[in-house]
Amino acid sequence: TSGYILLRDPHLNKGLAFDEKERSKLCLQGLLPPQCVSQELQEKKIMHNLRQYQVPLQRYMAMMDLQERNERLFYKILMNNVEELLPIVYTPTVGEACQKYGSIFRHPQGLYISLNEKGRVLDLLENWPEENIKVIVVTDGERILGLGDLGCQGMGIPVGKLALYTALGGVNPSECLPVAIDVGTNNEELLNDEFYIGLRQKRARGQEYAELLEEFMSAVKEKYGERVLVQFEDFANHNAFELLAKYRKTHLVFNDDIQGTASVVLAGLMAALKLVSGTLSEHTFLFLGAGEAGTGIAELIALEMSRQTKVPLEETRKKIWLVDSKGLIVSSRKESLQHFKKPWAHEHDPVKNLADAVKAIKPTVLIGSSGVGRTFTKDVIQSMATYNEKPIILALSNPTSQSECTAEEAYTWSKGRAIFASGSPFDPVEYNGKRYVSGQSNNAYIFPGLGLGLVMSGAMRVHDDMLLAASEALAQQVSEENLDNGLIYPPFSKIRTISAHIAASVAAKAYDLGLATNHPRPENLYEHAERSMYNPGYSSS
Ligand code: NAP
Ligand code: MN
Repeated sequence: TSGYILLRDPHLNKGLAFDEKERSKLCLQGLLPPQCVSQELQEKKIMHNLRQYQVPLQRYMAMMDLQERNERLFYKILMNNVEELLPIVYTPTVGEACQKYGSIFRHPQGLYISLNEKGRVLDLLENWPEENIKVIVVTDGERILGLGDLGCQGMGIPVGKLALYTALGGVNPSECLPVAIDVGTNNEELLNDEFYIGLRQKRARGQEYAELLEEFMSAVKEKYGERVLVQFEDFANHNAFELLAKYRKTHLVFNDDIQGTASVVLAGLMAALKLVSGTLSEHTFLFLGAGEAGTGIAELIALEMSRQTKVPLEETRKKIWLVDSKGLIVSSRKESLQHFKKPWAHEHDPVKNLADAVKAIKPTVLIGSSGVGRTFTKDVIQSMATYNEKPIILALSNPTSQSECTAEEAYTWSKGRAIFASGSPFDPVEYNGKRYVSGQSNNAYIFPGLGLGLVMSGAMRVHDDMLLAASEALAQQVSEENLDNGLIYPPFSKIRTISAHIAASVAAKAYDLGLATNHPRPENLYEHAERSMYNPGYSSS
């Protein structure tokens, strides 16, 4: 029966690619049809089949099935077709998958830690088949993309993110662990959905919540050691800021929505400065959305300005303005502001909405991080184009339905002058006979390389300087040709090289800061990064 079991083990299965010798050695004879094929032909066949599906969710499900059937082939295909498949295994399709996760659910894919398991989290980790975990992505499902509370069905996000850790960053899949923490959901629709897979109760808050998280954080450190990376993903902002502040001192953690997003946006701005005049500090920034993404990005921009100009952070922050659901954040509102908004409450008369804020502030850079679609109206974009020869406009919210504007709107309303990028991808746009290709401002550029750099150096903590190093490394990968086409990000097809550069820069920072534990320091960190990357080609038995 060993051959039969082998064919059902996604880590070892090669399907028809087992050759004659292997088939005889591994008791596979008769269990496979006679043809032996190459991995290349398998790839060709899968891509052919995927393209037959018109509905993206069907492609998603086919990819997830492949991951459960033949892991190496899954990663080979994802790596070789990254631009085509990223929108399937990641935003926007992964969003729809999470919304329907209950009904499309087939394989558990990750570790589910619910309130029921309180007191036994360490035992659950023992149930996971892999011992040598290096990267964990964890969500509690409360703010999945811009789609809100999806409870336990948020599992699709850690699964998707970790697939990218491997495909884009080369972290070995056996070292990755997706986790969904289930403390209930406040999503009535899910609570009433017979196919819902999570706890049917309202979200636990306060002490009950904090205790489960604390138990989880101690358990992973105990089980996997101090250098296991925990990436917090898609938590609602009250918990996100608190968890990051609490655990960044004692654990190797980062919050992708706050820090990863900040790093990717800063990289895009560094590249964009080659297309417009002025240094970072000579620009004025306006955000729609003052949550994790908005304030995280704002803070990293302010930090970089301060580093470049030696002007204190309190001063550089004044070049950055944020609008939330109540309007422009100004000092007269200070008392009622959440703590993460307070640094951004500058002196100004109250302004109620974004359109008026653009007119009042006259920003050179407009960034959408609100999770609300279609909020960059014609008026907003036209104003940006009135004040700026080349307005920089980033619509970061995911998935596509929540994007602050479409690429087409950004280009047509600015008469083709906008430098535009978005969180979810848009097809190229024709305007006045010219073709405009927009970049994807998505943290998928950063976290795989950042993670690889941390793992590779055995880093103990994530330091802000590592995020800045990652931004610089990414910005350096934008070629003259990309810039000539208006692109402020390099193509995803180059992502393995990009990730290796990011990993090398992050690892270098870890060594410089004395936070690395893997000694001696490799002489050439870039080569070391490339060498340590997972290769999904089949090995022969
Ligand atoms: P968050 O912490 O919940 O913050 C959302 C912010 O938007 C809050 O400040 C909220 O205002 C504000 N807001 C909501 N509705 C608004 C409206 N109608 N007008 C003005 N402001 C409004 O969420 P987040 O973590 O920052 O994520 C926001 C979005 O960014 C999501 O769609 C997510 O998918 C996307 N994102 C993209 C990337 C990427 O790589 N491209 C990375 C991370 C996140 P209040 O504070 O007043 O409630
Ligand atoms: Mn996220």
